[in-house]
Amino acid sequence: MIHEDGKIVDIAIVGAGPGGMASAIEAKLAGIENILVIDKAPHHNDMIHKFYKKGKRVDKDWMGIEFNFTGNVRFDECSKEEYIDQMDKKLENAGVLDTFEYNHEIVRVEKGEDGLFSIVFATDGISESVESVKARNVILSVGRMGKPNKPRYKFPRELKEVLNFNLSKVQNGEHVMVVGGGDTAGEYAYGLIELEGMEDCVVTLNYRKPDITRMNPINTESCTKYLDNGKMINKMGVDVESVEPGTERAIKVNFTDGSTGEYDRAVYALGGTTPKDILVNSGVKTGEWDVPVYNEATFETNVEGLYTIGDVVTDQGSIALAFNHASDAVKNIAKNLK
Ligand SMILES: Cc1cc2nc3c(=O)[nH]c(=O)nc-3n(C[C@H](O)[C@H](O)[C@H](O)COP(=O)(O)OP(=O)(O)OC[C@H]3O[C@@H](n4cnc5c(N)ncnc54)[C@H](O)[C@@H]3O)c2cc1C
Repeated sequence: MIHEDGKIVDIAIVGAGPGGMASAIEAKLAGIENILVIDKAPHHNDMIHKFYKKGKRVDKDWMGIEFNFTGNVRFDECSKEEYIDQMDKKLENAGVLDTFEYNHEIVRVEKGEDGLFSIVFATDGISESVESVKARNVILSVGRMGKPNKPRYKFPRELKEVLNFNLSKVQNGEHVMVVGGGDTAGEYAYGLIELEGMEDCVVTLNYRKPDITRMNPINTESCTKYLDNGKMINKMGVDVESVEPGTERAIKVNFTDGSTGEYDRAVYALGGTTPKDILVNSGVKTGEWDVPVYNEATFETNVEGLYTIGDVVTDQGSIALAFNHASDAVKNIAKNLK
């Protein structure tokens, strides 16, 4: 750790995605300078780096929900690359970048009898170690995409390389089946059709329902256009029963209506799972779907001083929502620190 032994910070923020970085900026604006932001990745906004396709438009209104910014951190709709640039500038202007510590995967936080949180990190996937810094408050903003949702059926071991959760491995010319019915699935499917250098891909959209109902208007329009003109193959209204190695292409897909299809790759866009382990191991109570129990106004959990925000608390998450949560959580912390 770059931080001195025995140091106590006012807030330790775990996760430097939209929620975590907005928390850092809000803290600074609230006059709380003594903070630490920890992320397992080598940079902030890693989920966006990894899961957003090249040139993706970053929408303010996501998953069909209209958002208004209620805090100090906002963004202008733009491409993925411009969004990352905007965030770099915001963090630099706020003067908080030197509080970011990368490449540390946190496994839990522990509240001691002194009321301070110790932060426990994984050293090599098996061993654990404790950060030299302790914290008065902790904001867990670790998102959900560390554990993307998988379908119910088994992934055969030999197909692991071609059953993916984002587009990063897709090669031009491949026959790709995108699975899912939300905005991410839509953007992956029509994104591949439009992506420069991927013109020869053959894209199929598979969704268990027959119609698009969960995408925002722009994504609905783009998918409908390509489904109608045949550039996107429509395999909606049917579920996948199982996948196995194919004969013509890597994957043979068996659908529930008895039909089959062969693809070079399948990309699943089914959202992500609440990171239950870090929550439960930190003493946070969880309810239905493993969502943490928390105060909806302040985002404080049952553990006093431990907050959780962003995608962790909702499967309808967005950047604007994570920014707004950060503002509410930091307001409460600032009030309590006075
Ligand atoms: C493909 C795709 C497209 C999307 N497009 C849009 C859009 O256009 N507009 C929009 O508003 N929303 C969009 N979203 C949703 C939006 O990206 C999320 O709602 C938002 O990123 C949530 O922010 P967050 O901070 O809660 O979590 P995340 O962005 O997931 O950030 C979590 C951070 O925590 C770190 N982390 C995780 N576990 C640990 C750990 N144990 N220790 C340390 N660090 C850890 C991760 O490395 C990551 O940096 C999209 C989502 C996807 C998947």
